[in-house]
Amino acid sequence: MTVLCDNEGRVDGVKEACGVFGVFAPDLPVANLTFDGLFALQHRGQESAGMAVSDGDTVTVVKDMGLVATVFDERTLSGLQGHLAIGHTRYSTHGASDWAGAQPVYRPAGRAGFALAHNGNLTNTAALAEKVGMLPGSVATDSDVVAELLMHAFPETEDLSTALQAVLPILEGAFSFVLMSSERLFGVRDPFGFRPLCLGRLGPAEAPDGWVLASETPALNVIGATFVREVAPGEMVVIDAAGPTSLDVPWLREVEPRLCIFEFAYIARPDSRLYGREVHETRCRMGELLAAQAPAEADMVMGVPESGVPAAEGFARASGIPYGQGLVKNRYIGRSFIAPDQKERADAVRRKLNPLRDAVTGKRLVVVDDSIVRGTTQRSVIKMLREAGASEVHLRISSPPWRWPCFYGIDTPSHDELLATDHSVEEMARVLGADSLAYISIENLKAAIGADGGFCDACFTGDYPTPTPAARTVPVTVGRAPATMAHQGALPGV
Ligand code: SF4
Repeated sequence: MTVLCDNEGRVDGVKEACGVFGVFAPDLPVANLTFDGLFALQHRGQESAGMAVSDGDTVTVVKDMGLVATVFDERTLSGLQGHLAIGHTRYSTHGASDWAGAQPVYRPAGRAGFALAHNGNLTNTAALAEKVGMLPGSVATDSDVVAELLMHAFPETEDLSTALQAVLPILEGAFSFVLMSSERLFGVRDPFGFRPLCLGRLGPAEAPDGWVLASETPALNVIGATFVREVAPGEMVVIDAAGPTSLDVPWLREVEPRLCIFEFAYIARPDSRLYGREVHETRCRMGELLAAQAPAEADMVMGVPESGVPAAEGFARASGIPYGQGLVKNRYIGRSFIAPDQKERADAVRRKLNPLRDAVTGKRLVVVDDSIVRGTTQRSVIKMLREAGASEVHLRISSPPWRWPCFYGIDTPSHDELLATDHSVEEMARVLGADSLAYISIENLKAAIGADGGFCDACFTGDYPTPTPAARTVPVTVGRAPATMAHQGALPGV
């Protein structure tokens, strides 16, 4: 049995969601731009990669299992000519990890078909699938169900924009979609804005060369695009030769945005900007506040590579304890191991991390990590550091105890596998072999981010913004778009 790892190569970590990208640029090589954009989003999903390209008459889809650079090479890209493209990197949070789940999803509706790339998880997939007559075994992913719903809406509309307006209001849960017809590019975010999506511009503001949609801002940076703004929760952006326009879903915008707070703590790249904040700096600040909240007497502060490092830097800065490197990470660790049980998961941690003996021998260490899921990584790390001669290990975690599963696109183990669900913090310290253990409080986590926007923090608090799949009772009806779907005209900030 193959156990998949998170983007840090951890066998017991949480798994990322997906990365989405789209570009409308008639005079530029859109397939190459999409490749570069997806490459910058590789951390969000490493199971499969794909893109769809339109030349106005034909939509061509290429997708396969594997990393972006495995699926696409010069020859593949040179055969993908067009003015518009979307792309996807996938980590499966709904459906199996196989080719059928790879995206973009294509359907032959409209002039030359449409394609869809999805980041997030719907929470009413079963009810939606039933509405379009999909049998449980035939549903590859929740994104497939959305594509079927759009197909069903097409015969009445012959237009992807109108089909979207009919389907979007009945979706529940998390979705940041990038879609395309043969002529136009679309970006859509659910009303809570669980998963990020941003808009960028290629070329000068007075004469743009094109427009870009991406899960995270580094995907704009690598292709030389300028960040324009985040797509607002509950908004649909439509891009064509005239530039972007915004379609609003007013009744869905009445909820408070709930961007996933774990994007800040772990998922997003450190050089991403979310809610106007650079993620790296918010992680350093988490470490600073953690040092004030849960100080420790120690000789050195170190982070668990790599996601624990910025908070460790912040902890050292605030505490005055010197920062040092105590572990070396093997950069060539792949994304999967043969790891069927707890012991082999622990062995996998040893393959990835090795202590720097001279740096840790005889020292009292503060070890900072971003989260504890099953605890396998932390237990192995603490054992390694003690064997290497550390005299004390004080574990500090820059997110609160993870006690609840995520239904919005982050793959977590079941409730009873989460170490924090049935252990007190003191018990966890004992189980992990730490001299002390402390987590940042949810209040300090929010203070470290310092943004005005709202957050989803359900995995730490159990406060789910929507009905969860088990609890969902909201009836589902497929129909035409309500008349209140208003065309808003030119985008602010463009
Ligand atoms: S439950 Fe946790 S991981 Fe999932 S969206 Fe909410 S904050 Fe993010």
